[in-house]
Amino acid sequence: MVTGVGLFSGGLDSTLACMVIRDQGIDVKGITFETPFFLAEKAKKAAQRINLPLTVLDITEEYIPLLKNPPNGYGKNLNPCIDCHAFMLKCAGDYMKQIGADFLFTGEVLGERPKSQNRWALSVVAKDSGYESLVVRPLSAQLLPTTKPESAGLIDRSKLLAISGRGRKEQMRLATHYGIDEYETPAGGCLLTYSGYCSKLKDLFDHYPSASLRHYSLLKNGRHFRLSSHTKLILGKDKSENERLELEVQPEDVFIYPQDTKGPVGIVTRNIDCYDTDEILLAARIVARYCKQGEHEIEMIIRCQRHAVDTVITVDRMPQEDVDRLRI
Ligand code: SF4
Repeated sequence: MVTGVGLFSGGLDSTLACMVIRDQGIDVKGITFETPFFLAEKAKKAAQRINLPLTVLDITEEYIPLLKNPPNGYGKNLNPCIDCHAFMLKCAGDYMKQIGADFLFTGEVLGERPKSQNRWALSVVAKDSGYESLVVRPLSAQLLPTTKPESAGLIDRSKLLAISGRGRKEQMRLATHYGIDEYETPAGGCLLTYSGYCSKLKDLFDHYPSASLRHYSLLKNGRHFRLSSHTKLILGKDKSENERLELEVQPEDVFIYPQDTKGPVGIVTRNIDCYDTDEILLAARIVARYCKQGEHEIEMIIRCQRHAVDTVITVDRMPQEDVDRLRI
């Protein structure tokens, strides 16, 4: 039986691409990817809805160097969409070979995204993946050069589609045709497309090139402050973030929180193993600024814990303009 491996995000386009290929009696396997910047949860849910066998690959280790230096540059934020797609296709191609499948396909639509899905970008993505001749785009195939699986008769080109542009009319019609009434958002919640997240990520790249997975994962929550080239403070924005941060504290961090009043908890992290008391004071003054109760008190008591040693310090609240200056 002919088998195709489809890149599957769980969005409408990748779902429709699976349906169009399946309609030809071809066996379809889905593949999706995880890194600290995008997860597979949506793809897993969507795959269940259409009964698609799905393989999830964690590509973090190879993805981070690519993200720091993408040969084809970034989109609006730190999203290296062209190189990201090419790399995913390369991984999917390796998987295709491993399972003895015949071709790859994606839900890309010509012209749907001006920068990453124009004719040039689609061709670069396929070429850079190393599997150029085997990459089929079922939704736009009739507008693109004929691929090897089509010319070899594994896929009937006449049953592939000719969708292009940003309008979603044809996709909506197909969704109704296939009975798809639930699907995930197109970018799949990729953190690399959010400017707030990318400021924190850029700061991490600039100050801590050898950051571990934990540091990437810490970027997802809280307000972040750059205290020095080695040190940053992360403060919870609400109760649930405070609770999450509390769970993330490591013995080498300073865990910081207000005494006798409600306010944010924080983690002071350093990329060298020693702490500077001036930086801890800075962090404590920022924590004091965000405490709600006792707003009119000039001084506040802040507790700092490191390696199970508890220190109590009394500080003034940092003026808001100074806090804003340190915010990443
Ligand atoms: S939006 Fe994110 S996951 Fe999607 S191609 Fe771009 S960088 Fe990759």
